[in-house]
Amino acid sequence: MVNLKLKQVEIASKIDSAAAIVQWNDWKWQMKHAITDIPTFERLLGIRFSDDERQALEKTIQKFPLRITPYYLSLIDTRDYKNDPIYRQCFPSPSELVVDKCDMADPLAEDKDSPVPGITHRYPDRVLFLVSNVCAMYCRHCTRKRKVGNVDYIPDKATISMGLEYIRNNPAIRDVLLSGGDPFMLPDDYLDWILSELDAIPHVEVVRIGTRVPVVLPCRVTNSLVNMLKKHHPLWVNTHFNHPKEVTPASREALRKLADAGIPLGNQCVLLAGVNDCPQIMKKLFQKLVQNRVRPYYMFQCDLTEGLSHFRTSISKGVEIIENLIGHTSGFAVPTYVVDAPGGGGKIPVMPNYLISCSSNKVVLRNYEGVITTYTEPESYRPVKCRGDCEACELQLNAGCSEKTNAIGIAKLLSDLDEAISLVPEKTRRIERRNDA
Ligand SMILES: *Cc1c(COP(=O)(O)O)cnc(C)c1O
Repeated sequence: MVNLKLKQVEIASKIDSAAAIVQWNDWKWQMKHAITDIPTFERLLGIRFSDDERQALEKTIQKFPLRITPYYLSLIDTRDYKNDPIYRQCFPSPSELVVDKCDMADPLAEDKDSPVPGITHRYPDRVLFLVSNVCAMYCRHCTRKRKVGNVDYIPDKATISMGLEYIRNNPAIRDVLLSGGDPFMLPDDYLDWILSELDAIPHVEVVRIGTRVPVVLPCRVTNSLVNMLKKHHPLWVNTHFNHPKEVTPASREALRKLADAGIPLGNQCVLLAGVNDCPQIMKKLFQKLVQNRVRPYYMFQCDLTEGLSHFRTSISKGVEIIENLIGHTSGFAVPTYVVDAPGGGGKIPVMPNYLISCSSNKVVLRNYEGVITTYTEPESYRPVKCRGDCEACELQLNAGCSEKTNAIGIAKLLSDLDEAISLVPEKTRRIERRNDA
């Protein structure tokens, strides 16, 4: 293996002959010297593209701009860079200009489900709040690719305040997910202000931050950032490692600081063709993450975003990966595999089947080894029929949940209290033909 430190010193001196390792570890220096053009990329890594290649690449970055931190660039293995998982995540491919017929600019309909700028309110009790339009690096597989390369900007206080006001006025929101862009690209005091405003809203029980900074710019996780975050518990951080190669000494140090500050860490990875579409790579990644106190949270199917067709795998590849994890490694090293439904349906978990069949008194199950077993259902279990009298239960159980909620979706069909017997798509021909329509 090439010595990473040596390579970083070499890249640093090519960027600025006076640069020392002190600068390398300064996140502002890293941002200032982010690689945004092809010739600089070639010069720093000592590689050359053919004229045809360069032309195709220039055309690609006109539509989807390029930005790589010197740190992330240093992780590329130049000996076989075209197959390198780091290269593929940060360096443009002319395939990004291919528009597939299923591609969409906003496949998750985040803009449609947005009541005020920056807020996507899709689920009953939580919102996505985009507080930054700046990223340290432009991931080639970005699901919000439509927004990448719009001028980098940080929404001003007036815009952020509209989002805060929306949250303040909706007591059902108990969980706020800050994303972007990358919230860790905000100045410490600005993020401090947003978090303080959220802390002051009584119904907001938990705040989460989604960031790729520990992966692409780990030196941004400074002591002062962490000391500020510590004041805002309960705060969770979800990061985005896609490949075991990204777990370096520097990123481990960033994770250690966050975990030592009492912040529970999760990881959301994306299944990407040619990067991590392999059960062995994924297992290694998840094991390295738990070693660094990061709980694999979600593994995403690649979205139908325009320009990502070359990154997409079949869903069956994802199921295969999960099959190779459950039972084979620690339960807490296995994320939930989800497909984010095109059109704004939200995340849909997908798994192999473990429940094979059942009768009225037995359930047939299989384990990861192929053992087929039976679970005999209890004879004595009397299902409790819910009478919806939460106050009476509250007297007995003292669970602090005496507030009635109305079931929705499949939970509504299952509810003992709801009359609904089916969920029917609106305006089908069959419904329109009905006499009472
Ligand atoms: C993913 C997501 C959330 C959070 O979902 P969890 O399953 O709770 O992690 C919230 N809002 C939107 C719009 C999302 O896409």
